[in-house]
Amino acid sequence: MRSRRTNNLPIVLDALALPEDDPATRRLADAFGGQPAAVTERRVGVPTRRSRHLQFASGGEIWLHDDTVVAVVLRLEPTPVAPRGIDLSDWLGIDDRATLEQLGTVMGTRPRFAGFGTPYFTIDGGFARATFRDDRGWKEPGNLLSLAFTVEQPGLAIRPEDDDCPTCSDLLARGDDDEQVDVDATTAALADAVAAGLLTEDTHWVRLADLRPLHASGLMERAESQLTCTTCRRIICFTLLRNASPTFGFHVLDDARRRPLGEIPPVDQWGDAARIEQERDAMQYVDHEPAAWFLVQQRGVLHLQARYTRSAMVDDSVLVRLDESELTAYRTGGHDYLSALARAIHDSAPYDEASAYHARNLYRQPGAKELRATVGAAIVNHTWLAQQRR
Ligand SMILES: [Zn+2]
Repeated sequence: MRSRRTNNLPIVLDALALPEDDPATRRLADAFGGQPAAVTERRVGVPTRRSRHLQFASGGEIWLHDDTVVAVVLRLEPTPVAPRGIDLSDWLGIDDRATLEQLGTVMGTRPRFAGFGTPYFTIDGGFARATFRDDRGWKEPGNLLSLAFTVEQPGLAIRPEDDDCPTCSDLLARGDDDEQVDVDATTAALADAVAAGLLTEDTHWVRLADLRPLHASGLMERAESQLTCTTCRRIICFTLLRNASPTFGFHVLDDARRRPLGEIPPVDQWGDAARIEQERDAMQYVDHEPAAWFLVQQRGVLHLQARYTRSAMVDDSVLVRLDESELTAYRTGGHDYLSALARAIHDSAPYDEASAYHARNLYRQPGAKELRATVGAAIVNHTWLAQQRR
């Protein structure tokens, strides 16, 4: 009969941020059963970070980055290496069927959330992130899958476990020198993954297809594409620099958004004939009012993207094609008229069917996803994000 008061948490927390051969890490490994049953090593990104994953038959796992413990995982969910999963009563003195509330009692604090499905606790010396079945089964017993103890706050740093993401962890092609990116092969792998729907391109950055020609033109200090993995949600930042070697790394949203990107020069300065032709037919930026609206045009047709907020949680935009009377008013009223129109759209609560703009909102119609990307590409140099990163 095990004691209900077992608490081996200090053994876990002591090892965080230490090297593998530190006595504290060895003590943790001993508590997990001595020798790991499986060890996986992986080189991540360029500049390269070494990721090492020790899995013990007991269900304990240790993740190291460049020989520093970044995460300790207590995995309840069975794996081939640990068919029975960890026994939580050995570690926290609680039942394996613990709910989030019961975890809070043991941790002595209330959970916080990094995103909707990621509860975590701030504890002395680190963070404890809990994963439940379907990312939401935390109220019912029996749904706890794992507890990850990390140095960095969940949501502000990538999860070490994602180093093994089956979707995006093998997209980087290395050159002959391991510290070099093979730009052509990596671009091709990323493009294939986008085409397969495994990654999405962020249109606020340089389009992947434009990355090499922009770099070759020498017009940009740094040309960067950002792509989000649909599996692990990490953002791949692939960067070609004018005066340095290319880089490839994984980031959380907050980090990715803060990365610098200069203004993207007009396509006729760097694109080939086909690309310039494509741009002529593409959606183009015309004007905007910060935080309120963008006016774009495609082959002479004007569209207004007007922002609306519904609550702290809902901040979105509608896209309407200007009708005849609006075009007439725009010709005389210009920028100020569009500001008034955008305000009228906002005040009409366009998410509500009663709003005249609800039915006109092209972002509610088939093809909306592509349309958002098209408009996003047209306004890439003019968004608040573009201002912010300069
Ligand atoms: Zn991924």
